[in-house]
Amino acid sequence: MSQASLGPGGSRRLLKRLRDLMAGDVTGQERLNQTVRIIAADMVAEVCSIYMARPGDVLELFATEGLKQEAVHKTRLAIGEGLVGDIAAHAHPLALADAQSHPNFAYKPETGEEIFHSLMGVPILRGGRVLGVLVVQNRSFREYDEEEIEALQTIAMVLAELAASDVLFGSTETAIETATQLPQRLDGIKLNEGLAIGRVVLHQPRITIRQMVAEDPASERVRLDAAVEGMHSAIDDLLQRADLGHAGEHREILETYRMFAEDRGWLGRIVEAINTGLTAEAAVQRVQDDTRARMNQVTDPYLRERLSDLEDLANRLLRHLTGDRTAAQTGTLKPDAVLVARNMGPAELLDYDRSQLRALVLEEGSPTAHVAIVARALGLPMVGRVKDLLSHAAPDEAIIVDGEHGAVVLRPSEDEREAFTIAIDARLARQAQYAQIRDLPAMTRDGVGIELLINAGLLIDLSHLESTGATGVGLYRTEIPFMVRSTFPDVPTQVEFYREVYARSGDRPVVFRTLDVGGDKRLPYLEVAEDENPAMGWRAIRIALDRPMLLRQQLRALLKASSGRRLDVMFPMIADVSEFDAALDLLARERARLARRGEAPPSEIKVGTMLEVPALFWQMPALLERVDFISVGSNDLMQFLFACDRGSTRLSGRYDVLSPSALSFLNRIAQSCTRRQVTLTLCGEMAGRPLEAMALIGLGFRRLSMSPSAIGPVKAMLRSLDASEVAAFLDTLLDLPDRALRSRLAAFARDRDIAV
Ligand code: PEP
Ligand code: MG
Repeated sequence: MSQASLGPGGSRRLLKRLRDLMAGDVTGQERLNQTVRIIAADMVAEVCSIYMARPGDVLELFATEGLKQEAVHKTRLAIGEGLVGDIAAHAHPLALADAQSHPNFAYKPETGEEIFHSLMGVPILRGGRVLGVLVVQNRSFREYDEEEIEALQTIAMVLAELAASDVLFGSTETAIETATQLPQRLDGIKLNEGLAIGRVVLHQPRITIRQMVAEDPASERVRLDAAVEGMHSAIDDLLQRADLGHAGEHREILETYRMFAEDRGWLGRIVEAINTGLTAEAAVQRVQDDTRARMNQVTDPYLRERLSDLEDLANRLLRHLTGDRTAAQTGTLKPDAVLVARNMGPAELLDYDRSQLRALVLEEGSPTAHVAIVARALGLPMVGRVKDLLSHAAPDEAIIVDGEHGAVVLRPSEDEREAFTIAIDARLARQAQYAQIRDLPAMTRDGVGIELLINAGLLIDLSHLESTGATGVGLYRTEIPFMVRSTFPDVPTQVEFYREVYARSGDRPVVFRTLDVGGDKRLPYLEVAEDENPAMGWRAIRIALDRPMLLRQQLRALLKASSGRRLDVMFPMIADVSEFDAALDLLARERARLARRGEAPPSEIKVGTMLEVPALFWQMPALLERVDFISVGSNDLMQFLFACDRGSTRLSGRYDVLSPSALSFLNRIAQSCTRRQVTLTLCGEMAGRPLEAMALIGLGFRRLSMSPSAIGPVKAMLRSLDASEVAAFLDTLLDLPDRALRSRLAAFARDRDIAV
């Protein structure tokens, strides 16, 4: 039985009444009481109630028209409990003609609600967060229609905005105030170490909507059309600016944007919201809030990604409507900024003023993501995969970023701040110690010299040569500049780039690794078919040998750039000697070409290989005859040795690089190289961890290449180490059946005061 119909015109009338009420003198509870009264009257409902979320995941009845007044501030429901709790838990509307027969119905006797049969409730949402629930009830078995649900959602959205700006509750205690003041710890994964405390800056900040209610829907629709038009041409512009650094990388995302931007369903929902009386920007926000709430329910990563795209698009549209710009666009980043985002590309991070940035936190992200590589190069603490980050963090809130443990604390308490300040001070003190030993020799107590080198991939990494006192670059990942471009860089561009690397490295040697693309490192302009197992698929030298011009051009550029100085170059993912020979052959051709053209060659050329595929070890005698040096890529070597995906969070920690098998393998590699006096380096992540580095020295490694921040700790460790003693100790361990030798090595270090 349908009651008076509440068309779009009715909804607009109601919004105007609410606006008048908010502008009036009444405040606090009385304002809430009048709000529910107006809504009940307008919706022809006997009951209208507002439940607000309270700390501890409960909903409290804040105001009601129609239920017993003594229940106000007494009736409480856990999120998920009863129909109201269900609406909050799933952030979705419910409309039931016979609510009491619903399995989730929870009877609250103090409210006197047993006489009301039908119920319609919608979540009060803001920024994807459920702030409360708005409910209407009728005695009759009323069938609420779509339009009525839509109208109630619009009202709920207006209430959310009013609640957030304190207009609804006045200055009295509010649910939102209490909830947002509570500290909250959110766990993620460590993407770059370091600790920081600062204030939240949203990479895509929430846009302030100055006017929610519109007088004339027709003109709002015109504004929407104009904004959609503006957004389309901005996206098309981005797509066309192929030479723009990050456009190539984001091309796919932009294509998806365009697809969504033309999605009639999405725009249709925005128009519907305008028709209920909202301004164009408020309508976009309403649809965005729904999307965010739905996103929290979706677990499928692909769908989440799509919904997130839609959210980004809504943000763009809002900016076109309001003219707001991001902090990166305006260049007005506040000091102590902790950047918070769902995800971002490396170029976007570089858009910000580094001097103001303290840390970066993402809802997504992975250790091998390019933005993480850039964050590391910038020395920016970074935490990723923080679930629901954006629904919890509000702009300007205090935030602690714990890059050591992969966690953040929002709105930290005094105690937490203090504990953190102590941790930051301790870290600074350690860094001061490392700075003190910077110019001292990297030599063990028994006089064994160890060469400490840095891994680099961006020009900014090279500044760390000076600050760490490293002797050179042990691994230059040349693929990184290729990844952030939209087209393949031609030879002159590459020459210029490599020359710049040399210029910034001074006299220190740099080992260039030729392109290691494929796997998770995609080039936007290189078609790579999806392998089922990309790390073991068409990548690195496999691509280079199948598409020899790529490698030849790179070698050509490296030879030219090294004119008059020594060139150190190595090839990634060599699995057998014939691949190394084939790569060497391409190098020989390029050398011949250079000579034919009478161009000045490098003063010396040293050619090596990465040892990342276990099979290569079994051709060691043939390999050692050919190479000038070998660099063990333990990241890949271990993933293939244990058949264990290096990026899998589920498997991380399952196998240990300090296991007898891994260490025995590394020991054999070191012995072979030492016998033939072939230079050996290890450039995987393990080189940068003091305990692991201690073991490597014990196994005979004398060159370690690592991320710049690891140089200090590793140097402090080795200067307190006796190399022959750890070698002898390891000798007694390698045949043990243990899963890992980690605790034995840690005890060894502890007993001898070795700084691990
Ligand atoms: C490695 O595999 O250990 C390595 C250094 O190479 P990347 O991490 O670039 O694969
Ligand atoms: Mg590798």
